[in-house]
Amino acid sequence: PFDVLVIGGGPAGAAAAIYAARKGIRTGVVAERFGGQVLDTMGIENFISVSHTEGPKLAAQLEQHVRDYEVDIMNLQTASALIPGEAGGLHEVKLASGASLKAKTIILSTGARWRQMGAPGEDMYRNKGVAYCPHCDGPLYKGKRTAVIGGGNSGVEAAIDLAGIVAHVTLIEYDAQLRADAVLQAKLRSLPNVTIITSALTTEVLGDGEKVKGLQYKDRATEELHRVDLEGIFVQIGLVPNTEWLQGPLSLSGRGEIEIDSHGATNLPGVFAAGDVTTVPYKQIIVAMGEGTKAALSAFDYLIRS
Ligand code: FAD
Repeated sequence: PFDVLVIGGGPAGAAAAIYAARKGIRTGVVAERFGGQVLDTMGIENFISVSHTEGPKLAAQLEQHVRDYEVDIMNLQTASALIPGEAGGLHEVKLASGASLKAKTIILSTGARWRQMGAPGEDMYRNKGVAYCPHCDGPLYKGKRTAVIGGGNSGVEAAIDLAGIVAHVTLIEYDAQLRADAVLQAKLRSLPNVTIITSALTTEVLGDGEKVKGLQYKDRATEELHRVDLEGIFVQIGLVPNTEWLQGPLSLSGRGEIEIDSHGATNLPGVFAAGDVTTVPYKQIIVAMGEGTKAALSAFDYLIRS
């Protein structure tokens, strides 16, 4: 059996694997797609001490760093079930391939995915004007016109954040009213360069083949179509944790995130979790790496005590 079995090969899983392997204990990583969301990212400018890098490059470096150690990397493998061990016993992870792995400790780092609008053009212009992370890509739109899709807390926070950087923000909400906290809505309404449009369904991302040039939305009250000219669209309609396979005794939050304490421990002894899949706030590469580190050191601490 593994001492530490990491499920997920994004920044959190890679950090966890390296920290575990450096303790000289038997470490494995199961990943559907090694690199995780980083593979889908273009420019990365907030990975501290690296002024600029690109997603596929950072993902390759993550994998190389893990391969510097004796880690059993099982790439292109999907975990389909976690069967926690009885007190102090081995945990089992079943894979979609039918295989099953046993480990003394498990680190869950299966990440999350941004919910997409599903509008034509969204995929085509991803990273070419369609963005999902204002902390990451906001500065790229300095002085430009942008829209935020979604009037929940994350959408309104993103609009307030962007309004300080970009020329103008159009916030588009599907419902008749915003769903964000009143204090956020009041702040948003106080800003001079923000337009709020409610009861609106984004029907298309418009572009010139290279970059986003605008969007089209339908006024749900009148059914009329409107066009907004802009350079950037931030989609903020939810971040979905990859926990569908983790039903059962593991504690999840109302949003489906794995509940962890300050040490990355879940409610199940010997099962830890890290990164975007957990309740940790602020989903960022550098945060996920720190969390993976914490989970691995906590797993090691658990092993030497049991
Ligand atoms: P993930 O990166 O999501 O990795 C999850 C891993 O688990 C993957 O290997 C996946 O294949 C695997 N997995 C999932 N389910 C299973 C399963 N059932 N079995 C086995 N494996 C599974 N952050 C920044 O800091 N700066 C940026 O500039 C930036 N830009 C971004 C741009 C885009 C387009 C996106 C989508 C995100 C961006 N982020 C950025 C956010 C950042 O990528 C994430 O916060 C970070 O990757 C989270 O790391 P993670 O390891 O927790 O999860």
